[in-house]
Parts: sequence; structure tokens; C-alpha cells
Amino acid sequence: MRGEIISVGTELLLGQILNTNAKYLSEKLALLGIDIYFHTNVGDNEERLKECLNIAFNRSDLIITTGGLGPTVDDITKETVASFLGLPLVENIEAKEEIIRFFEKIGQTPTMNNFKQAFFPEGAKILPNKNGTAPGCIIEKDNKIIIILPGPPSELIPMFEESVYPYLKSKTNETIKSRVIKIFGLGESKVEEMVKPLLFNSNPTVAPLVGDGYVTLRITAKGHDDKEILEMIEDMESRIRGIIGDYIYAVDEEEMEEVVIKLLQKNKLTLAVSESCTGGLLAKKITDVSGASKVFNLGVVSYSNEAKENILGVRKSTLESYGAVSHETAKEMAENIRKLANADFGLSTTGIAGPTGGTPEKPVGLVYVGFATNEKVYVKKLMLSGDRSKIRTRTVLHALDIVRRYLLGIKID
Ligand code: AMP
Ligand code: MG
Repeated sequence: MRGEIISVGTELLLGQILNTNAKYLSEKLALLGIDIYFHTNVGDNEERLKECLNIAFNRSDLIITTGGLGPTVDDITKETVASFLGLPLVENIEAKEEIIRFFEKIGQTPTMNNFKQAFFPEGAKILPNKNGTAPGCIIEKDNKIIIILPGPPSELIPMFEESVYPYLKSKTNETIKSRVIKIFGLGESKVEEMVKPLLFNSNPTVAPLVGDGYVTLRITAKGHDDKEILEMIEDMESRIRGIIGDYIYAVDEEEMEEVVIKLLQKNKLTLAVSESCTGGLLAKKITDVSGASKVFNLGVVSYSNEAKENILGVRKSTLESYGAVSHETAKEMAENIRKLANADFGLSTTGIAGPTGGTPEKPVGLVYVGFATNEKVYVKKLMLSGDRSKIRTRTVLHALDIVRRYLLGIKID
């Protein structure tokens, strides 16, 4: 089924509110296997709304409108749809009684224009609104479906879930499911090059997308049977794993820090961190994960040289000879925080996040990440791009990825 969404409301065109209804509906309709090819935004204007309806009617099987159902004169969606379809507006007694009950409940008296909301295009199926006074409706005409929904998301969402979803589910017998494969350590173009033949697949489809410091591949499969769809996704996932391998760190909602915490928990190991350029972001990410206390025991933000020396015990000679942003300092920071915290692992970050502070020898984006175990200390030198925030976020991902790789027995490169 081909569908489209028409969002009605001048406030959307003026940039006063964000069109969250279109986003919400698109996500839900995709799950039903409905192809959404167009989003239209139109103001509260009868002539232009008719124009949009006319275009939509010629190219889509399903049209969903949102907004313009209020009691005031600028709310014209139902009236315009009725006029466009050549249907009279008729009063619905139940909807009228519902409006009276709603006002009784909130201790107010409805005004005459509230009853405008009890009128619908003839033959429409009424969609009750438990959270407001404007019911929605469904009209079937000429093999097309028009669904009229209210603007406020607090009314639209429950109405969609309670009435529209079951209705559409009965009309379509197709479902779409997606899975997101998260990749760290390879750039978007590299990933694209590696999986290129898969990007032309039609079902399931594979689409690359760049996240903040990582790359994702979204697998989307369409079909009639949940089990069959899942098998299609799993088959594609294993093909992708065969190509991308250990660079895949998570699937769907899972974040890098969750993966690392789980691995530490599973192996009953502890981690401590000493941070300079990430200023606590690494510890924040770790402690964002519920249950982190079992594996994370200390975080120190040692921003100044004095703190690196006095609290972490980084040697004065190291700082003087190599500087705070150096392989040697990162190494000592990781080793010493491990000892200080009596942890299995010590992780450190030191770098130049910018925009100031860079020199020709040590430019903005130069970062060292240290990782100490009881046997060895690894130090990774990074040259990161982006602004201050991106450099810090990426440093955290690199630091956590080192721990992930170590715990999975993957080479730390
Ligand atoms: P309505 O009276 O049905 O036109 O809707 C009134 C209110 O719903 C607006 O003032 C917005 O706060 C909200 N609204 C309308 N359209 C949207 C939309 N597309 N996305 C999010 N909120 C919306
Ligand atoms: Mg409006």
C-alpha cells in the first residue's frame, strides 16, 4: 500500500513547532509495510489543502491528515476533505454526547463551536478521542482511504494506537522489520565499498548511515510472516558479519558502553579511568549504564599537570620531557589509575580537543588513549577530526572499543 501524510497547520510552516506527527506516523506505518513516499506540510488554507488532497489522491492509496480539527474557524481539515470528496457533513450523535461528557468531566460548558467537532463527512467511521474533544475519522472512497487525525500528539498517538493501527493492520497483511548493525573503526565510504553488492538487494534492503563517530547498516525486510522476515534479516546480518567482522560492536539500540559493561560483568573484571581531554565523559558514559557499579570503581579527571602528577603519580620528568599529550603520559595515567583503584584495567585519555591549544607538533585532534592490564599497557595514538564535542565523543568510543577488543580477544590496532 502506498501512503502519504499531509500535516495541516500554519504554525508548522512558520517553524513554530516541529512536525513530530509525521515522524511518528511514518515510523508506525513502516512497521505495517506501508510505503510512505511523501510528506506534505500545508497551512490552514482551504484552497491549498484541496490542492494537496488532489495530488495525494492521484498517487496514493492511503492519505493521513493531521491537524486542523480544533473548534475554531481556522480548523478546516474535515470540512475541506468533505467538500473535496463531494460529501455532506453530518452530525454524529455519539460524538456530540462525547463532547458534552468531556466538558462535564472538566467542569466547563461547551460553546457552540465545540459542536462543530461532532460533524463528519457522510459515511465516515468515527475514531473516539479520549484525550481531547476532536474525534478523528476514516473515510473509504473510490478504493482510497483517508484518515483524519487531530494535531496534538497527546491525542493523535493514543488514537493511532487504539483505532488506526488495528484498522490498517486488517487492511494490509505485510510487515516490515529492521535491524541496525553498528560498526566502529571503519569510515562510511569504506563500509559502503565493502558491502556494495548488498546495497542493491531489494528485500531485505541494506542502507548505510553515519552516526556520531560510528557507521550503521540498516537491514529492512518486508514480508507476510514474522518468522520468514526474521530469517531474512538474520541471513543478511550474517552475510554482513562475514564481511565486516569484528568492527561490528552492537545491534539496534545497544551502545558501546553497554557492550563493554556487559563484557566486564561476564568476565567479573573491573575498570578504572583517568581522563584529561574527555573531562569526565568517559566516566559518564560508563555510569550511564545501569549495573556499572559492579565493574567500575574509580574515575579521575586529572586536567592539570599538577593533578596528573600529585593524584595519579605521573612522573614529573615524563610531563616535562614529553608533555601532557603524549604516549608516555597516557601510558602512566592508565597504569597508575589501575593501581590506585586496585582494578583489573586502567583506561586513560589525553589529547587536544580544541579549538585552541594546538601546535604544529601537537595539532587539535591529537589524542592518546592508554589501556593497562596486569600484563601490558597499550597506547593508541589517534588523529581525530571535528569540533571539541566530536573529538571528545570519538575519544570515548575509541577508549571503550579498546576494552571491547581486548575482552573479545580481537587485535587492538
Ligand atoms: P489542531 O487544532 O488539530 O490543528 O492542532 C493543534 C496543536 O497540535 C498545534 O498547536 C500543535 O501544538 C499540535 N500539532 C499540530 N500539528 C502537529 C504536528 N504535525 N506535529 C506536532 N504537533 C502538531
Ligand atoms: Mg491547527
